[in-house]
Amino acid sequence: MQDAIILGGGISGLTAGYLAQKQGQDISVIEKGKIPGGPISSFREEGYLVERGPNSLLLPDPWVETFIEELGLRDQLQETNPIASKRYIVKNGRPEAVPSSPLQAVFTPLFSLRGKFGFLLEPFRKKISDRAGSRETVASFVKRRMGLDFLDYAIDPFVSGVYAGDPNRLILEHAFPLMRGFERDSGSIIRGAIKHKKKQKREGTAYKKRSISFKDGLGILPQTIARKLGNRLWLGSEVVAVNRVEDHWQVTWKREGENFEGFAKNLLVCLPSHAIKRIAWSERIAAPLRSSPNLEYPAVHSLALGFRREQIAHALDGFGVLVPSKEPPTILGALFSSSLYEGRAPDGHCLLTVMLGGIRHPELAALPQDRLLELALRDLRALLGLKGDPSFYRCTSWPRAIPQYTRDFGPWRDTLKSLAEEFPGLHFGGNSVDGIAMGASILSGKRLAECLDKDIDV
Ligand SMILES: Cc1cc2nc3c(=O)[nH]c(=O)nc-3n(C[C@H](O)[C@H](O)[C@H](O)COP(=O)(O)OP(=O)(O)OC[C@H]3O[C@@H](n4cnc5c(N)ncnc54)[C@H](O)[C@@H]3O)c2cc1C
Repeated sequence: MQDAIILGGGISGLTAGYLAQKQGQDISVIEKGKIPGGPISSFREEGYLVERGPNSLLLPDPWVETFIEELGLRDQLQETNPIASKRYIVKNGRPEAVPSSPLQAVFTPLFSLRGKFGFLLEPFRKKISDRAGSRETVASFVKRRMGLDFLDYAIDPFVSGVYAGDPNRLILEHAFPLMRGFERDSGSIIRGAIKHKKKQKREGTAYKKRSISFKDGLGILPQTIARKLGNRLWLGSEVVAVNRVEDHWQVTWKREGENFEGFAKNLLVCLPSHAIKRIAWSERIAAPLRSSPNLEYPAVHSLALGFRREQIAHALDGFGVLVPSKEPPTILGALFSSSLYEGRAPDGHCLLTVMLGGIRHPELAALPQDRLLELALRDLRALLGLKGDPSFYRCTSWPRAIPQYTRDFGPWRDTLKSLAEEFPGLHFGGNSVDGIAMGASILSGKRLAECLDKDIDV
C-alpha cells in the first residue's frame, strides 16, 4: 500500500507529488492528459515561443522562488522586460495607459473627474455588515467603495484578464479575499493596504510580487517536476472510481483501455470540480458531491499571432491591453508577448497573444478557428493599428478554462471541507479550492504535501 495517491497532474498535483516524494513518501500521481501540467504548456515553432495557456507566473511569496531554484530552473528564469509594468485599458475604442503615478492619475482619460474624486473618498466611506460583506459581488463592492468609473475601467477589465469572468457574479470574499479583509478589518481598502504593508515590513515578510516566465516558456516547470517524479507519474490515465475500503483508499484508473488499481493511506485530490463529480465514489462521498453546486468553467481561446514589427503602429510598450465589457471590441485582451519576455519572436517580428471567450462571450465557445482569427484581427486593426495578416497563427481552445468563484463556490468548498473532515487521509487542493492563479496552485500543492504529516525543508 502506498502513502498517497494524487489525482491530477496539473501544477498543484505535481507539486504535491514532488514534495511528498522528497519527504520519502511512496506516492503515485495519476494524470488524464498525455502531458503534465494541465494548461501550462509551451512550444517553439517558426522562431516563435508560444504559450498554450498561462503566460506569466506571478510569484506569490519567496517560497515559490526557492522551489524553482531547487528544481534547477534558476538559470531558466526570465524576468519581465521593464516596460511590462505599463498596461493599457481600452477607453472610447483606444488603448489608454493605466496611471502608475499620482500625477498620471490626475490626468488620465480613463476616469472622469467625478471618478477620480470618488477614488479619493474611498477611505471615508462606511463599511457594510460582515454578513452582507461575505455575500457581496466584486462589482457591488467596487461601485460602493470607489465608484462606477473604477469598476468599468479598472476592475471589470482586470477581472476579465485574470478570471475571464464577470465582476457582477464573482463573490469578493472568494475571488479577492485580501480586498474583503481590508474593508472588514480596517474599514477601507486604502487604509487596509497601508496597514498590511506596514505589518509585513515589521514582521520581515515583505515580498515584492513579480511576474516571471522561463526561457523555454512556462511549460518547463511541469515538465521538470514530471521528470523528477519519473515512473511515479502516470500520464494518459483517467481516474474513474475511488472507494473507501476500511482505513484506506482504492483508486481505479484507465490507461489505453486497460484498468489499473492502486491502494493508499492518503488521497490528494487536485482535479477540477467537474472531474471530481464524474468519478464513481463510494456512496457516502458521492451523495454530498451530487447535491453540491457545479462550478462554472467558461471556455477561453488563446490565439498566438505573429507579425512583422512594422505591421503594427502601436509601440507595444507594455504588458498588453485589456478590454472593458462596455467597450466595442470582442477580444478580452491582447498580451504583447514579445515585448514582455525576450526571445518570443524571430528578429524583426512580434508575437501577440489574444484571449477570446470567457463568461463575457459564451457564444464564442464553439466558434471555428478561422472565425476567431477574423474577430481578433478586426479588433487588433482598430486598437493597435494593425495592417495586413499574421505570418504565424496558432489557436488553443480551452473548453473549460478557469473556475468561477461565484456564489456556488462557498457551498462547493464547504462540501469538500466536510468530506475532508469526515474521511481521514482525504484532502482537496488545486484551483477548484485554493485560488485560480498558478502561484496559488503551487502553494496548494505544498499545503497538501504538508498534510501528509512530515516536515518539508526546501
Ligand atoms: C488560457 C488560460 C490562461 C491562464 N493564464 C494564467 C496566467 O497567465 N497566470 C496564472 O497564474 N494563471 C493562469 N491561468 C490559470 C492557471 O493556469 C491554473 O489555474 C493552474 O494551472 C491550475 O492548476 P491546477 O493543478 O490547480 O489545476 P489543473 O491544471 O486544471 O490540473 C488538473 C489536472 O487534472 C487532470 N484531470 C482531469 N480529470 C482527471 C481524471 N479523471 N483523472 C486524472 N486526471 C484528471 C487534468 O488533465 C489536469 O491536468 C490560466 C489558465 C488558462 C486556461
